[in-house]
Amino acid sequence: MSAPAVVWFRNDLRLADNPALTAAARSGAPIIALYVLDDESAGEWRMGSASRWWLHHSLTALAHDLARLGVTLTLRRGRAEFVLENIVADAGAGAVYWNRLYEPWAMRRDSEIKSQLRARGVMVESFNGSLLFEPGGLRNKQGEPFRVFTPFWRACLAAEAPDAPLPAPKKLTAAPPPASDALADWRLLPTKPDWAGGLRETWRAGERAALERLAEFAKKRVRDYKIDRDFMAREGVSRMSPHLHFGEVSPRRIWAEITEAAGDAGAAYLREIGWREFCHHLLVANPQMPERALDERFRDFPWREDAAALEAWRIGQTGYPLVDAAMRELWITGYMHNRARMVAASFLVKHLLIPWQEGERWFWDTLVDADLANNSGGWQWVAGCGADAAPYFRVFNPVLQGEKFDPEGDYVRRYVPELARLDARHIHCPWEAPEEVLRAAGVRLGETYPRPIVDHAKARDRALKAFEATRG
Ligand code: FAD
Repeated sequence: MSAPAVVWFRNDLRLADNPALTAAARSGAPIIALYVLDDESAGEWRMGSASRWWLHHSLTALAHDLARLGVTLTLRRGRAEFVLENIVADAGAGAVYWNRLYEPWAMRRDSEIKSQLRARGVMVESFNGSLLFEPGGLRNKQGEPFRVFTPFWRACLAAEAPDAPLPAPKKLTAAPPPASDALADWRLLPTKPDWAGGLRETWRAGERAALERLAEFAKKRVRDYKIDRDFMAREGVSRMSPHLHFGEVSPRRIWAEITEAAGDAGAAYLREIGWREFCHHLLVANPQMPERALDERFRDFPWREDAAALEAWRIGQTGYPLVDAAMRELWITGYMHNRARMVAASFLVKHLLIPWQEGERWFWDTLVDADLANNSGGWQWVAGCGADAAPYFRVFNPVLQGEKFDPEGDYVRRYVPELARLDARHIHCPWEAPEEVLRAAGVRLGETYPRPIVDHAKARDRALKAFEATRG
């Protein structure tokens, strides 16, 4: 038997369109399938709690799918460089294959691992399995990485189209599997308290679930996406984000299926996949993006420290129904609608003047789709301190946003049940409702539901003054 090849799975927890797996299978070598939980290398960006919940289920699904092809998924915990060194040495492996990651800590780690393995005579091959276009390949007219989305996306659309997705291998040859940790011992699932009930009700992880969701979206909803995507109570968006983050489906597959199902009518949706692409390219060009504002003028921004306000925001008790619904959707389901993300994030940064990094951290721990590039990109965009950011004077008004994008109030009713009996006219601004309307709806402001923790008009003025200081 020839020397085994290690396929190192990371955020590519799938069999179809997995270039690393396909290359290993084509090499004819017997395969060792490996996943390493490497919290040490990730450091402060180790996976948050909701992501760990997802990972548990996604690994279960992957192990199941690999087992059907006769391959055991080996699980190991620790520094990836040591784990790989041991596995390669013990198994006498001759090659290691993986799909690339783009988090700065992972890029540093992986390039060291690559050099070390190659120095020992092990063949290493890495692939692009999670982006449509490799970062670094697209440049603006000045020959630099793009900092503005529209020309970036135009350049993507003008570039050579992404390759067609690869089929899942039909057959794999297994090498004797190395000893594996038991998944349960990693304790990725919460025990006491078990906060994952809403996640279990909302999601199914794994490649099969991802492909089913994509097929359903491509068939029934992508054509209405352009309009429906903004309405928080509708099923207008795809909810592909955790599947994409964990690589249960590739963006190339999405590109191909959406184009085939909808043609030009899929453009608005692919443009959002383009934002994902843009955030990753930005992160590679600006590895400081998760920690520091890309716009240098924000270095001395007069942020406030306000633990009570931050806590009210986190638990959805700000007194602004749309913000509270958004934050509770996040807590209950591990997901938040994109428009709600923009409004809730803007509220933290602009109404409360709390640093965007605080919000980024909270999202990191609570989102099932927590993604370093998209999350830091999203927060910097909302705060107005990113590369291609919302203008500083854009302060989302949570009441108007609610009236426009949740006109019946159903999104608020779903997540803020104490306001469920309020009519659509008052549900986004209960403090403006006449006393008898509140009484009839069973709402007692300050008791059953909080009064606003800041006044919108005053908070807006304060934010504009603070942000104007960065324009100098
Ligand atoms: P759809 O509308 O169906 O879009 C399809 C896919 O396109 C998404 O799954 C996602 O991969 C990509 N996409 C859509 N919008 C964006 C965007 N603005 N930026 C980057 N990619 C996008 N997205 C994450 O995946 N992880 C995060 O941690 C994350 N944090 C965010 C934080 C803030 C403050 C903001 C404003 C946005 C954040 N986003 C994040 C982007 C966006 O909100 C989510 O990708 C989207 O809501 C996921 O839902 P969906 O799959 O139904 O999206």
